[in-house]
Amino acid sequence: MKQRVSDHTRATGSHPGISARFQRQIAVEGFGVESQLSLRSSTALVAGIGGLGGTAALYLGAAGIGRLVLCHPGVAEEPDLNRQILLTADQVGESRVINAAEAISLRYPDVEVIAIDAGVASPAVSEWLVNSDVVLDCRHNFAERLQLNRMCISAGIPLVEAAMDAAWGYVTVIRGGITPCLECIVGPGDPGWDPLGFPVIGVAAGTIGCLAAAEAIKVLTDWGTALESTMFTLDLADMTGHRFKLSRDTSCLTCSHIPSASSNDSGRRVRSG
Ligand SMILES: [Zn+2]
Repeated sequence: MKQRVSDHTRATGSHPGISARFQRQIAVEGFGVESQLSLRSSTALVAGIGGLGGTAALYLGAAGIGRLVLCHPGVAEEPDLNRQILLTADQVGESRVINAAEAISLRYPDVEVIAIDAGVASPAVSEWLVNSDVVLDCRHNFAERLQLNRMCISAGIPLVEAAMDAAWGYVTVIRGGITPCLECIVGPGDPGWDPLGFPVIGVAAGTIGCLAAAEAIKVLTDWGTALESTMFTLDLADMTGHRFKLSRDTSCLTCSHIPSASSNDSGRRVRSG
């Protein structure tokens, strides 16, 4: 249920119980108090806390999301540090996701941050996913990306799908029965990414991570228009950007059984709290 907003609040941007940290965000046309309250009552699961997912998680924390669930297995390595800005040099060899979670908590103590030092197949990820309002796919391999896609389609959770390679990246928003799913887009097999071998310009990971956070914020609020059935690609090498429409694959093993619906039927979650 949307919270009623007084004329005074609209005029000043202030609101009881909302930190002044969000004053200028609330002032953005079309955003407002309702969107801020929606963020505060939302949970985002970020799968993959590398240069892409770590940046997305950081900006969701800055934006005032209520809860972040971060999953990523293993320890940080020195080559990670050109893009994984939540980590420090002395944390090489330590759990990446736990240190990333602590870095976000230090900056934004009002955000509940849960760290899962495991991959997408972990039961803990499944348990949190079904209680999330949006999932961000920032894993570095398509086996896990396709698994996450299936989990989100099955649970009816919106998925922000973002990836990058070298200086190029893409982002789109997936909703089961409304948009193509990841398998509709790339097919059922692994496209053959070298999970730990592809080159990365750090600023490209950060830029695409910010775009993923922006799409997650749009999914969770009434602000803006999310990239549903639309893929946006950006090549930072020459700053070439493209948008193109995506279509559902009627033979997709993951989503073709779901009848088509419009995004108006998806029921954005706008809540007070
Ligand atoms: Zn599909």
